[in-house]
Amino acid sequence: MSIQFDVRTRVREDLRDLVPYDTHPYPNVIRMDLNENPYPFPEAVCQEIIKKLNSDVFTRYPDPGAVELRQALADYNGVAPDNLIAGNGSDELIQLIYLTFGGNDRTVLIPVPTFSMFKIHARITGTGVEEMRTGEDFAVPVQKLVERARAGIDIVVLVSPNNPTGTVIPPEDIMYVLENTSALVIVDEAYFEFKRETIVSHLNRYPNLIVLRTFSKAFGLAGMRVGYLISNESVIKELNKIKQPFNVNSFSQLAARTALKYRQLFDEQIGMIIEEREKLFMELQGLSGVTAFPSQSNFILFRTPVNSDKVYQELLKGGILIRNLGKVPGLEDCLRVTIGKKEENAIFLEKLGVIL
Ligand code: PMP
Repeated sequence: MSIQFDVRTRVREDLRDLVPYDTHPYPNVIRMDLNENPYPFPEAVCQEIIKKLNSDVFTRYPDPGAVELRQALADYNGVAPDNLIAGNGSDELIQLIYLTFGGNDRTVLIPVPTFSMFKIHARITGTGVEEMRTGEDFAVPVQKLVERARAGIDIVVLVSPNNPTGTVIPPEDIMYVLENTSALVIVDEAYFEFKRETIVSHLNRYPNLIVLRTFSKAFGLAGMRVGYLISNESVIKELNKIKQPFNVNSFSQLAARTALKYRQLFDEQIGMIIEEREKLFMELQGLSGVTAFPSQSNFILFRTPVNSDKVYQELLKGGILIRNLGKVPGLEDCLRVTIGKKEENAIFLEKLGVIL
């Protein structure tokens, strides 16, 4: 006789309404949905990675301390290796922060709209979530935020440049938050390389600061899953107690440190992305009824006069995948397009023009 096992009732009660991540089953489309770098990974970097591959990369466990990668990152960011932890994408590090500093009886304050994983990982780790809507221009109202943070908030999230809006939080506003709350403040700088404004240079002044970065955007390594965080040694020490020992695989560590070594090669790609972004912004603004929001990142958020579901579906039929954000409160009829190569942007614009 088989036992009774109702798996649904065995799932943690607070997680029963979660849905799996959309697996994007669209093989033959132009991908302009995930804010990746559209250009080929530089050949010279590729060749060096291949040259350095050896049997140990496959047979041995990865370096749990990612020592060489952290040394390279320390040089890149003007900090010490002990200020750094590498992660399996910054997604893993968001979860690690909540596992360490969140959980039951702890609450995170998230200005929205922003990157959805901050809320999802909070829920997964049992961390309470308070959301705070930003204004029409998506500026984070820092005074209001600090007032809220003082009333029992443990963690504050600031994303700059923000995804999906492209908005930057002025450094003085970030410092205002850091100086006026004892909450842990996560500053997500995933898109740092497109704006080059950072709070990292002030790290020593703020014991409550954690900065998040990623190799998935400017460095074109989304497939390798490498992110990192920067904080003071005492915070790093606590996070290291919770971190999975072999979280970043050997191949990814090698790829990330080689990409960093050749970072000038990516500067050219970043320059082209920024140039294309400005062009695309003007062109979107020129489409009748469209509002494009200024972006300091590698994507543009825009609102259409046509229902965003329709725009999304029609573009997909035409072979272009972008992000439909119409269901996000405050972003009704909005979509986000990742800056592609010149020719991809042209196709996107042409197809969008036909739909509108
Ligand atoms: N933070 C922000 C603001 C992002 O937009 C993203 C990716 N969309 C991430 C973090 C996650 O990046 P990773 O690939 O390093 O997990």
